[in-house]
Amino acid sequence: MSSILTLNAGSSSIKFSVYAAGTAPQQMAVGQVENLGAADARLTLRWQDRTTTAEIGPADHDGGVQAILSALAPVLDGADLAGVGHRIVHGGLRFGAPEVLSPQVLEELSALEPYAPLHQPHNLAGVRAAMAAFPHVVQVGCFDTAFHHGRTFLNDAYALPRRYYDQGVRRYGFHGLSYDYIAGELAHLDPVAARGRTVVAHLGNGASMCAMLDGKSVDTTMGFTALDGLPMGTRCGQIDPGVLLYLMDHDGMDSAGLTSLLYKECGLLGLSGLSNDMRTLERAGTESADSAIAYFAHHIRRELGALTAVLGGIDTLVFTGGIGQYSPATRAAACKDMGWMGISIDPDANAANAAVISDGAVTVRVMTTDEELVIARAVNAKL
Ligand code: ADP
Repeated sequence: MSSILTLNAGSSSIKFSVYAAGTAPQQMAVGQVENLGAADARLTLRWQDRTTTAEIGPADHDGGVQAILSALAPVLDGADLAGVGHRIVHGGLRFGAPEVLSPQVLEELSALEPYAPLHQPHNLAGVRAAMAAFPHVVQVGCFDTAFHHGRTFLNDAYALPRRYYDQGVRRYGFHGLSYDYIAGELAHLDPVAARGRTVVAHLGNGASMCAMLDGKSVDTTMGFTALDGLPMGTRCGQIDPGVLLYLMDHDGMDSAGLTSLLYKECGLLGLSGLSNDMRTLERAGTESADSAIAYFAHHIRRELGALTAVLGGIDTLVFTGGIGQYSPATRAAACKDMGWMGISIDPDANAANAAVISDGAVTVRVMTTDEELVIARAVNAKL
């Protein structure tokens, strides 16, 4: 039997899955290494209905991949590892589809590091570690930007002097693996609706929304970086660039300070002063927690209206991501008083996180996304 390993390397963690190769890859094991770079990295593996956790001591990305390999030895026993798939946040202007990773492609992807400084270097560290560990196995990069590739100038430009557009300062959009999965599932669930106008709200720690026509991205809320659009767990979302100028001129902030502020201290955490985690905020019930949740929902409504206008109407609305799937309160607040748009939610179905929660003309769905499966399928297609 052949197997496929998927790796999703972040700044301090590497999530991984093993699939049996095939046109419908079957997940055999899943896990993650956390706390990379700290003294106490930890590996969790779920395999054959058992979850095990092991301390692996201090480890960088190389050490993390090595620990994953050791932990997977019994899983891969007798199975030939046919390919490794990597989640890579940025594919730039060139990569609009999964790509087999060669040293030359890696070099091109490294050149995109300034576009996604908090993600791309870690993604590529994972690739290098896996290439060193499996020099003869095909490695495939799957890009979060790829789903949005090829949108029109109207949808991917900023109103900056044209030379910046030509230089690559564009609205790339992200969460593409999740949107790809949802588009594919919708095509199974309701092929007619999937050809129509769909807005998908991917609401996790990172959050964005995508307007799709016939399963293809038309517009999305994230832009040049994964900071734009909706407020997120710790990211600011849409902001007047004048605020940044003010912070530079009057608070003496430099690029490093702004990066840390905008990526790590804003969003639900900054607004509530309490937590970036929606469950904690919902339980807290304090004024600042409630207003942070209300702000989040308000911006989902705003973007829903805007994306619906871009599509000229809406047939299907999908909620996914941890908050999208499990927070009835957020879904209800985001869809409140939207009957005029055909969006109305059945309170019982919503409370039960049911697959379909609408009671109006627009079908409102709650779906579980699966980015790893999208990667495994892409690898399988390259075998
Ligand atoms: P990531 O972007 O890191 O993959 P997830 O998609 O796992 O994030 O989403 C994490 C978010 O989902 C957190 O804010 C978490 O509080 C929220 N969440 C998960 N389960 C629930 C729940 N039962 N109720 C409300 N929010 C939830």
